[in-house]
Amino acid sequence: MKIIMLGAPGAGKGTQAKMLADKFEIPHISTGDIFRANIKNGTELGQKAKTYMDQGLLVPDELVCDLVVDRVKQDDCSKGYILDGFPRTIPQAESLDAALAEIDSKIDFAVNVEVPDENIVNRMSGRRACVACGATYHTVHIPTKVEGICDRCGKDLILREDDKPETVTKRLNVYHEQTQPLIEYYTKKDSLVEVDGTKDMNEVFDAIVEILGK
Ligand code: AMP
Repeated sequence: MKIIMLGAPGAGKGTQAKMLADKFEIPHISTGDIFRANIKNGTELGQKAKTYMDQGLLVPDELVCDLVVDRVKQDDCSKGYILDGFPRTIPQAESLDAALAEIDSKIDFAVNVEVPDENIVNRMSGRRACVACGATYHTVHIPTKVEGICDRCGKDLILREDDKPETVTKRLNVYHEQTQPLIEYYTKKDSLVEVDGTKDMNEVFDAIVEILGK
């Protein structure tokens, strides 16, 4: 099953993507995670991506497309995969479709996790990420056992630069301008499914699984 997760930043698509990847035993491919790993490892790609990410802007298509296309052609993706955070622009979607067509493949579902803008800013200011292992939490929805400390590795948690309120507002504008048109794109391809992302994360998950199972 080849799935794309759509939705505004902070809509919870990353959480759902991880849960779906576990359930269907297919890789979870998050372009945001790939960039963050590159930043942590000090690669050239990471350095380039960071300048855009810190400003709430999208990394240019040419730095993203080949990376994802190469990834989905790897052996572990033969049974399917979940793309989380890609595509984010129409040209990215077109380049993915073209690359998949070459290997006689296509996306089965684009899952749009819908959350109104007003909920997003609140949610994102509560997000916390581990400086060491990258695990993510939420002060209200996914609290750690000890405040400010990662459950997984015991290191400190931070509010990521791109989750700060001023950056979130910018990211929402970017989302509406550049990513939201993908909803129409996948509707026309008959692969769009929508879920209410304001519900509890387990309810959202059950709703997605039910739709995908039909
Ligand atoms: P995410 O963790 O998916 O919210 O991504 C964090 C940041 O990484 C975004 O705000 C963008 O700056 C960058 N990014 C991730 N995926 C993409 C993509 N497909 N196209 C452009 N920029 C991306």
